[in-house]
Amino acid sequence: MICKICNKKITGRKDKLFCSVKCKNYYHVNLRKATAVVVKELDNILHRNRSILLEIMGKRKIQCRVSRMVLEKKHFVFKYHTHQHTNNKGKIYYYVYDFAWMEFSNDEILIIKKT
Ligand SMILES: [Zn+2]
Repeated sequence: MICKICNKKITGRKDKLFCSVKCKNYYHVNLRKATAVVVKELDNILHRNRSILLEIMGKRKIQCRVSRMVLEKKHFVFKYHTHQHTNNKGKIYYYVYDFAWMEFSNDEILIIKKT
């Protein structure tokens, strides 16, 4: 076997992927860094999406309907959500943390605050 990091021949156990602790640590540190960059970008989008929903809803309402255009103008990113749920009528609720939204009609979005 050849080390994934430095290409040295690996000695010892057959299932080893790295020649040394140093190479192993290097690999995992960089793996974490690469993940952190992408996760941070996605977190930022999700946080902004939540802020947009909160801004539209205000603090008192539990649900409201809004034109899709309003969300688009605020650069809401529809494709990112934290999880989703399909109800018994086949409607898909997209969650952004404690908020959910669904396509009420072609141009209307229903926003719901989950408490
Ligand atoms: Zn190595």
